[in-house]
Amino acid sequence: MPADPSPQAESRDAVDVLIVGAGPTGLTLAVDLARRGVRSRIVEAADRQFTGSRGLSLQPRTQEAFDDLGVMDALREAGSPLPPMQTWRNGRREGEWRLVERDPQAPVSRYPVQWLVPQWRTQQILQERLLALGGAVEYGTRLTALHQSDQQVQAELTQTDGSSRTLNVAYLVGADGGRSTVREALGIRMKAEGGALHAAVVADVRVEGLDRDHWHMWPDGPGGELLLCPLPGTDQFQLTAPVGDEEGDPCPQRIRELIATRTHLPPTAVTDVQWTSYYKPRTALAERFRDKRVFLAGDAAHVHPPGGGQGLNIGVHDAYN
Ligand SMILES: Cc1cc2nc3c(=O)[nH]c(=O)nc-3n(C[C@H](O)[C@H](O)[C@H](O)COP(=O)(O)OP(=O)(O)OC[C@H]3O[C@@H](n4cnc5c(N)ncnc54)[C@H](O)[C@@H]3O)c2cc1C
Repeated sequence: MPADPSPQAESRDAVDVLIVGAGPTGLTLAVDLARRGVRSRIVEAADRQFTGSRGLSLQPRTQEAFDDLGVMDALREAGSPLPPMQTWRNGRREGEWRLVERDPQAPVSRYPVQWLVPQWRTQQILQERLLALGGAVEYGTRLTALHQSDQQVQAELTQTDGSSRTLNVAYLVGADGGRSTVREALGIRMKAEGGALHAAVVADVRVEGLDRDHWHMWPDGPGGELLLCPLPGTDQFQLTAPVGDEEGDPCPQRIRELIATRTHLPPTAVTDVQWTSYYKPRTALAERFRDKRVFLAGDAAHVHPPGGGQGLNIGVHDAYN
């Protein structure tokens, strides 16, 4: 993206693109711009890297994009194919099945199957690639306001210690997630679609007494199903379970209780709870993805229920495109 040659461009800091948010979308964009020699910066409100497994599965086209960006070898090493599903009833194994069947009609890809990698690891690998290309994530830096003219965007950034500064850039990309400050600053509304989806908890847990060759599912627990998926490259499982709409963030004790009531495992089988989150699945789409010099990408522009495994993948494609 060439710098704006107008006189006002003189007043810009030496940055053409400011990326707000270092999730998978922002990191993918930062890597792509860095390898093309575009002067960009990426700021992240959190003080450190994200630690949850959240978006697990990389689709074939995402793997092709990651291959082009030079991170696919590392992701292959960090991940695994989707394991077969294992249904449990009354403490007994009751059938193995595939979540995704291979489609012989599908277009040929070097990466024909979904690849499982915990989201924190995908982000870590993208960040390592960014570092190798000479970039870096500025943690503890939150975008608090923005103003734009025809020539530039003025971004107000606030550090964790409360200090703030203003950065003038040619373009800004809001990759700042479902509650996007950038989208709000632009006054762009989300068109939401109601659905009958339940709130759910997700957690990264260590559990004894289960093999790591299956994605385990207990479909008939009191209060709903519970799933435990082995997380490649770790000794943990990702737990997902629908819960009540008012549940809120679960504590480790609640996670043990869910496992004890919905599976045949005792609460003591859970030896560690690493990360937990509570979410209400929804579908929503921003009215516009662009306002003059400011773009929206990833969850900031569109939100998907996690079941379809789309959110991270589509965000990566927004960035790559
Ligand atoms: C249980 C679960 C399972 C999922 N499974 C899948 C799956 O299998 N496949 C899939 O594709 N997707 C999946 N998803 C969805 C996926 O996790 C998200 O779509 C993805 O994280 C979106 O990436 P993003 O970079 O757009 O936004 P985010 O990951 O939300 O990142 C946004 C970043 O911006 C930062 N930020 C926010 N505001 C500011 C600000 N003002 N200034 C600076 N920084 C800011 C945040 O701290 C955050 O780091 C799942 C989600 C859940 C909850």
